[in-house]
Amino acid sequence: MEVRLKILYTSLCHTDVYFWEAKGQTPVFPRILGHEAAGIVESVGEGVTELAPGDHVLPVFTGECKECAHCKSEESNMCELLRINPDRKVMISDGQARFSVNGQPIYHFLGTSTFSEYTVVHAGCVAKINPEAPLDKVCVLSCGFCTGFGATVNVAKPKKGSTVAIFGLGAVGLSAAEGARVAGASRIIGVDLNSNRFETAKKFGCTEFVNPLEHTKPVQEVLAEMTNGGVDRAVECTGNINAMIQALESVHDGWGVAVLVGVPHKDAEFKTHPIHFLNEKTLKGTFYGHYKPRTDLPVVVEQYLKGELELEKFITHSVSFSEINKAFDLMLAGQGLRCIIRMDE
Ligand code: NAD
Ligand code: ZN
Repeated sequence: MEVRLKILYTSLCHTDVYFWEAKGQTPVFPRILGHEAAGIVESVGEGVTELAPGDHVLPVFTGECKECAHCKSEESNMCELLRINPDRKVMISDGQARFSVNGQPIYHFLGTSTFSEYTVVHAGCVAKINPEAPLDKVCVLSCGFCTGFGATVNVAKPKKGSTVAIFGLGAVGLSAAEGARVAGASRIIGVDLNSNRFETAKKFGCTEFVNPLEHTKPVQEVLAEMTNGGVDRAVECTGNINAMIQALESVHDGWGVAVLVGVPHKDAEFKTHPIHFLNEKTLKGTFYGHYKPRTDLPVVVEQYLKGELELEKFITHSVSFSEINKAFDLMLAGQGLRCIIRMDE
């Protein structure tokens, strides 16, 4: 059930940077990082029937076996077999790595390892898409865009005319803002510690901004004052535990929903007063925007081809594979959104 992919384009997501830094996550070395990508099937292994060499595909860090209780349920995208597992470093069929150097294994990352010209992936983590789609653009659907956009439209589900706060205005947060705009939110409040993000965020529908560093009061109080008691929805896309707590505490009592998307530090603990829940605030979280990769991703690609989604504005930089470190420098400096890495140069 494995396929070998030729990766043509990949991009850097903050999750890669966390595992490269290996501070807040379990370190595994040597390992090939990378999970947001687009490519072509080079060959297929035994048991693979739905993919063939030449298919245009997006590998996804969380899979869909289509057979487990989660895949059969409309309510879950947490496939029993192939759900995201950052500590897994080998293929599930035989517990071995498919990469090696001088006989020593090089481990996998998120079942995808796309910072490689060729990679081996479980067929359940591969979405076959329309070959007309430009792979250097739809690449961002493989993680960042679907994660943020889906967190808003599939999980937070803001009503028309509502107020939505987005914590963290990187590519994931701005995709969440885009989801709020499409859902008809009338106010979209961007919250980020980096004010340089605000000008760009206007293009993604953000109407107001808060930089918590510019206030003496906690950001949840600032938001409550701006909105007569709290925002209707909050989507957290920072990975910072304080922002996660602030997101919950910022939503309106009675109906507010906060959705966590950022990948937390391994030792993080969420602490809040339970009265928030008694006051009928809801806290949720999601991987990959609640999309089922194989079922839903081809549909999202069609939406892009029909002109319904503007992926181009997320792509601010492009480098060749030999310049991949520039993509890390940009991410660490909080500059730009997605940097596409061209594998064929
Ligand atoms: P990014 O670095 O481009 O953007 C994060 C933004 O958050 C930055 O602008 C940063 O200044 C801001 N920020 C950091 N701490 C903050 C705080 N305390 N308050 C307000 N703003 C703060 O990262 P990205 O690639 O957009 O990813 C965002 C998060 O989503 C990361 O944690 C990443 O690991 C996570 N992620 C989750 C999933 C999922 O399926 N749940 C998928 C992909 C990425
Ligand atoms: Zn990612």
